[in-house]
Amino acid sequence: MGHNPLPWMNDDELRYRAEVPCYCGKQGCIETFISGTGFATDYQRLSGKALKGSEIMCLVDEGDALAEQALCRYEQRLAKSLAHVVNILDPDVIVLAAG
Ligand SMILES: [Zn+2]
Repeated sequence: MGHNPLPWMNDDELRYRAEVPCYCGKQGCIETFISGTGFATDYQRLSGKALKGSEIMCLVDEGDALAEQALCRYEQRLAKSLAHVVNILDPDVIVLAAG
């Protein structure tokens, strides 16, 4: 699923797609948005700071506004991606896994 395009991209996601190519050679892959690397890249675009996903989550716990914004964007993108799958397959359960 990670190398399908992110559905229903907004203007910022279209800019992200142009700026951040996927390692597979395509642009706009879900993987570039919904992964630890994608989360860190999006946070860096917002804040100018290069942090690991775990470090950003610590900032979320501390109430950092930009980290919370990055997490909210991540959650919205995950929801859009899963909605696309649900609309096609109507699964009873979705199991998420990652490295
Ligand atoms: Zn890809």
